[in-house]
This record gives sequence, structure tokens and C-alpha cells, in this order.
Amino acid sequence: MTPHGEQICYTDAYAHRVEATVRSVDTGDGALVVLDRTVFYPGGGGQPADRGTLLRTADGRTWTVRSARKVDGEIAHELEPAEANPPRVGDVLTVDIDGARRLALMRTHTALHALCGVVWRDYGALVTGGNMEPGAGRMDFEFERMSGDLVDAIESKVNEELRSNREVRVDGLPRDEAFRIPDLIRTKINLLPPGIDEIRTIEIIGLDLQADGGTHVANTSEVGALRVTGYESKGRINKRIRIELVDPV
Ligand SMILES: [Zn+2]
Repeated sequence: MTPHGEQICYTDAYAHRVEATVRSVDTGDGALVVLDRTVFYPGGGGQPADRGTLLRTADGRTWTVRSARKVDGEIAHELEPAEANPPRVGDVLTVDIDGARRLALMRTHTALHALCGVVWRDYGALVTGGNMEPGAGRMDFEFERMSGDLVDAIESKVNEELRSNREVRVDGLPRDEAFRIPDLIRTKINLLPPGIDEIRTIEIIGLDLQADGGTHVANTSEVGALRVTGYESKGRINKRIRIELVDPV
């Protein structure tokens, strides 16, 4: 593994801005810019990548970053294709994400983990996938007996948990240790690539523990309440629950 730039999103989800230096620029249809540090989240685990801007300190020139993604372990910032003359290697930039959008994604992501925690604890149903946008998301479960009545009960139980001011903790575990924790095995850490030695975990203390690369709020009280907006069958066993935040911003 080559040493990569500092990836602040994984240690401080609330950091929205940082000064950085350009390490490489891959020009093309939407240039890819790699920095020595960044606050951008590159997407993954159902959470979309951040959007934002790069501002060059020397002359105030700004570029719009429409997305970010991992390229060879680095977080690459994808500029709008219309942006001519991307920044150059060595340029000093102020890196800014759309903070309101990120915070909505953090709250939504934590809400979805609370949903998983309740569905596992009370119904023993495994999560098989999920996706989100700011303020709304969906989770898929192996949940044969799901029904409208159960979904109503799940909504109120999740909201009760969110109101309980539960701390949300980011941690890292050696891979072999992670494989001994039943709660982590249920979220299919066996699907993680073998090259990963440390498993990043997100724990809603007392409710849910998952291997996860996303950004989360520090306490469930920051999520507010959610409402279930729909549920559907994706087969006899696989069911989907859709949620949204009551106060999306
Ligand atoms: Zn997650």
C-alpha cells in the first residue's frame, strides 16, 4: 500500500473545510484531483459522495467538485466537465464540502443503522443492502413476516431509540478480532476484501454495531425522528423498508 493523503471524513465527520496541496491531477472529461488531505467522503456503503468546491489561495479561482471517489486508495475529486484549466500540482487550495448536504446524509445514515439495530434485535432479520440520499433512504432485509402492522411498530421503536440520546462511536478492529463478534458477522464482514487488515466499525451504543465506512452523527438525538414512507416485497423473504427524516434539514 502506498501512503495516501489524509482522509479526514473517517475520523472527523463534522469537518467541512480544510487547506490542502494538490498532489496529482488527471485531466480528462471531468478532471480528477488528488490532494494531500481532504474532507470529502468518496461514497460507499450506500452513502453518496460529497459535493463541494476547491478554492485556490493564490488567486481565488474556484472549481466545482461534482463527486468524489476512491482511485487506488486515494480520494479523487471529480471536477465538473465544463471546468477548464484544473488546478496544478503544488497549488494550495481550500477544500469545502456542501456541509448541509453532508449533515443530512450523516443523520440519514445513522437513522438507517438505528433501523437495522431495531429490526435485528426485535425480529432477528438480517440486512442485505441499503441506499440513501440526503434525508431519505431504504434498507433491504431478509424479513419474511414483515407486514404493515410490524412496520408501524418498527417506526415507533426506532424513534424511541433515536430519542434516547445514544452515543454513536467510530472505532477500528483488527480483522481477526472483528470476525469473532457475532454482531459484525451478521452484517456480512466476510464480504470485505481480504486486503483490509482493520475493520472500521460504527456502534450506536446499546443498539447496533456494524462494519461501516460511512459518516455518522455523534449522537442519535441529532437525527431527530424518522417516518416509514413505504415497504415492499422483493420476493418471499426479501423486504424493503423506506424511511425519511421528519426534519430533513
Ligand atoms: Zn452504514
